Amino acid sequence: RRDAQTAVVRNRSHPRNEGVDDLQDEEELGTARPVQIVVADEEEHSFLLQEAALERLLLREEVQDLNVVVVSVAGAFRKGKSFLLDFMLRYMYRQSPDSWVGGEEQPLTGFTWRGGCERETTGILAWSEVFVMEKPDGSKVAVLLMDTQGAFDSQSTIRECATLFALSTMTSSVQVYNLSQNLQEDDLQHLQVRSATIMLMVILCCQTLMFLVRDWSYPYEHPYGLEGGRSFLEKRLQVKPNQHEELQNVRKHIRSCFSNICCFLLPHPGLRVATNPHFDGRLKDIDDEFKKELLNLVPALLSPQNLVEKEIGGVKITCRDLVLYFKAYMKIYQGEELPHPKSMLQATAEANNLAAAAIAKDLYYKSMEQICGGDRPYISPSELERHHAELRQSSVWHFRSVKKMGGEEFCRRYQEQLEVELNEAYANFSKHNDGKNIFSAARTPATLFAVMFI
Ligand code: GDP
Ligand code: MG
Repeated sequence: RRDAQTAVVRNRSHPRNEGVDDLQDEEELGTARPVQIVVADEEEHSFLLQEAALERLLLREEVQDLNVVVVSVAGAFRKGKSFLLDFMLRYMYRQSPDSWVGGEEQPLTGFTWRGGCERETTGILAWSEVFVMEKPDGSKVAVLLMDTQGAFDSQSTIRECATLFALSTMTSSVQVYNLSQNLQEDDLQHLQVRSATIMLMVILCCQTLMFLVRDWSYPYEHPYGLEGGRSFLEKRLQVKPNQHEELQNVRKHIRSCFSNICCFLLPHPGLRVATNPHFDGRLKDIDDEFKKELLNLVPALLSPQNLVEKEIGGVKITCRDLVLYFKAYMKIYQGEELPHPKSMLQATAEANNLAAAAIAKDLYYKSMEQICGGDRPYISPSELERHHAELRQSSVWHFRSVKKMGGEEFCRRYQEQLEVELNEAYANFSKHNDGKNIFSAARTPATLFAVMFI
């Protein structure tokens, strides 16, 4: 198991947080680090997906077919997101429940880039190591940690921040919305933006939204932690008859959108954390009260029994599927306007069908490989065709049996495409098989020839 510690010692000597080529080099050295997967294009006012970087994380052999858990922390700059994520990394790297939080004198490392290295880039960062964890039922899942940051507190960029928030929410299973001091009406407005958009998230979105309130200073009204958070949130999301209609709507939407909304009230970490420029994250500088709550918060998000697998349209998705969803969702956020809900739904249905087709194709491939792959002997074309027909049928059957979105006609297009691709694959397998035949025929005389002349 790699150690976050080594990771960051190296991170410090490489103060970069983007660039795909770097990623490969550093991974060969066994170094995990934050990787930019979505970048803001400031001139174009749009976002770019770093496809290669994303694929490198999620299409790794060990994780690509595992169901994925995506935990994102989203919010404005300089509000302690990286600080929290670093503790989450500690938890992931040291699973022992009593000692994960680290030593008193140990500097905090991971997402944090100190000494002026950290650039305030709007976009989504992911930890380059996707963690494999075992749930209590013995199933393995892949855990991706994301850091979503933008100008969440500035009015002028409401579209960007809404886009970014929507994007990371749609791709995560747990969205931690990091807020300073209180839950303001503004914070709720960000979640709303366009009521239809957010309504659509009912079907599409993440499974858990956690409002994380930092520097909570009214523990006598609502105590720290999840319990206090619950009573606080209940109060804030109450719809009162004398409220402005718009505000009532925001609240109603939020309530109906997320099957699981929660809130966590975190105390102030102490003045050394907040104001000392030389603070490097060591525990001895952090207030006890904060540490105590941290010990509840991090396992509430990441302990094996609390891991929430990402679902889209009621179906759990794998790391490989997630790549497709990222691509599909990015596409709809390219225009000037916020996407129309219909196009969001369409993109989801598209990715959803592509993912089902990819799995179906994979089933076909793997089975065909068993029958006539590179290391298999030549088989007669008629037998190969029989296998193909059978496997093709079960592949299509698999595609059809997966719960998909978009309706029958929409899905049919993807099924037809799948059939075309299976036939192409068959043509290749056949050619390969024929090649073996010629090879074996040619080899016999050659061997004879060789034997005769030895
Ligand atoms: P990010 O930009 O949201 O990722 O913020 P950082 O994690 O880089 O933290 C920004 C600054 O806030 C650093 O100086 C941290 O030491 C400090 N900080 C971290 N957590 C908290 C917190 O809960 N409350 C306060 N007041 N400051 C914090
Ligand atoms: Mg940060």
